[in-house]
Amino acid sequence: MSGSRVLTSVVGGQAVAGSDERPDVNPSDLSDLVAIASLGGTSVASDAVAAASAAFATWSRTTPWQRAEVLDRAGTEIIARADELGDLLAREEGKTYPEARGEVVRAAQIMKYFAGVALQPHGQALDSVRPGIDITVTREPVGVVSVITPWNFPIAIPAWKIAPALAFGNTVVFKPADLVPASAWELVDILNRAGLPAGVLNLVLGRGSVVGPVLTGDPAVSAVTFTGSVETGRGILAGSAGSGIKVQLELGGKNPLVVTERADLAVAVECAMQGGFGSTGQRCTASSILVVTDGVHDAFVDALTARMGAWSVGDARTGGIDMGPVVDASQLAQDSSYLDTARAEGAEIVGGKRVDGATEGHYLTPALAVGTSITDTINREEVFGPVMSVVRVADYAEALAAANASTMNLSAGICTADLAEASHFKRNSKAGMVMVNLPTAGVDFHVPFGGRGESSHGPREQGTAAVEFFTTSKTAYTAPGSPS
Ligand code: NAD
Repeated sequence: MSGSRVLTSVVGGQAVAGSDERPDVNPSDLSDLVAIASLGGTSVASDAVAAASAAFATWSRTTPWQRAEVLDRAGTEIIARADELGDLLAREEGKTYPEARGEVVRAAQIMKYFAGVALQPHGQALDSVRPGIDITVTREPVGVVSVITPWNFPIAIPAWKIAPALAFGNTVVFKPADLVPASAWELVDILNRAGLPAGVLNLVLGRGSVVGPVLTGDPAVSAVTFTGSVETGRGILAGSAGSGIKVQLELGGKNPLVVTERADLAVAVECAMQGGFGSTGQRCTASSILVVTDGVHDAFVDALTARMGAWSVGDARTGGIDMGPVVDASQLAQDSSYLDTARAEGAEIVGGKRVDGATEGHYLTPALAVGTSITDTINREEVFGPVMSVVRVADYAEALAAANASTMNLSAGICTADLAEASHFKRNSKAGMVMVNLPTAGVDFHVPFGGRGESSHGPREQGTAAVEFFTTSKTAYTAPGSPS
């Protein structure tokens, strides 16, 4: 692996090499080595927590303007480098270049949004119910925040955790997913050069099973914000039970899209295509189960199948393609295994073929499991690939019941032109986010994000909700006549 770019952890502003290495491989071209991650162990993680802890006293007392300026500068650089960073992200993760560039721009928007949030008032001055006493409710930073992220949004998810953490005066230890160290490294480099004092933002490249317990269990850590699988998230929650630290989890999704006979068929097909196969279906908000009422089922499946046949799959950085590869061999094996199980449980599989590209990569065509029941395995577990299934139901009432059968209620959608159906669905869906005539995936950064059931734990992320997790509230009472 000599000659490749080596990425290291960053602790207290210094590059720190680890004792192990992991290749960062392009899933569109397995002969293309993007970089080599130098993986640290528990001592690197402990040092990063110590550096963040030491930096907290100063950073937490910076003015909102100082924090806003850093975030704003970082956002400006990210936008200026959107082409290059988008290319890196597409190369490393495998979503198409337009999707990857869009994600980079989103990260910049998040930086700038939280630069503004830092400047907004978050406290309150109130009258007491007792005469003459003044009350203030202030928001204070929590302390050292561990940020642990998945591979499917290599820059946007880190941005939407790190930006509010810094905006509210916390210091950060950031551990990205093993598959996408390069995008993470660039984000940290940009923020540090934008003016963060050493130790405020630390990067730990290391295996989750090794460094994770330090980042979630060190007594100097005050909060953990995690996005990833239900299994890992549950482990973190169980491990933190005795320590009382704040834990925010955004986990898996099993997202239904309801299509009724009152839907505009073209809109419904497009919502399913974008929601199910955008970013190669590797989104927690991906449309996964298509719940279709009897009257439109066959026409919808025919139209969707035709559209899937025209969907091009190839190298993420080739212009004009619709879908890049699956992220790695184990995810590809998981996708194929769910399709095999669906077939064994009686579904007819449309698409879902391994295909060759110009280079060797993890290419899979979009897949649709037709004729499934809501209780089938494929409709209960998260696939996390370009795989959707169809469940035929008699009417809207049955559709709502099927949509609400999910236990990972992150996002749910309905395609209908009937206002009464749309309103009823918005009111009665069990999901944390509801989309009407829109794909289940695709959200804004200035409003709360999160699911229900097994999908989320703790306060919502993003936008107006971020203040809840990244600050702690203090209520102060002042007696009359106290020195001002
Ligand atoms: P994962 O759970 O395997 O890994 C997530 C992160 O946790 C990685 O950085 C990993 O290294 C780390 N990790 C692993 N073991 C750990 C441990 N013991 N302690 C601490 N950290 C540990 O998930 P993934 O495969 O990277 O991502 C895919 C999953 O993420 C899917 O389930 C998807 O639905 C979910 N996801 C959820 C959202 C959301 O907002 N709800 C968004 C994106 C992805």
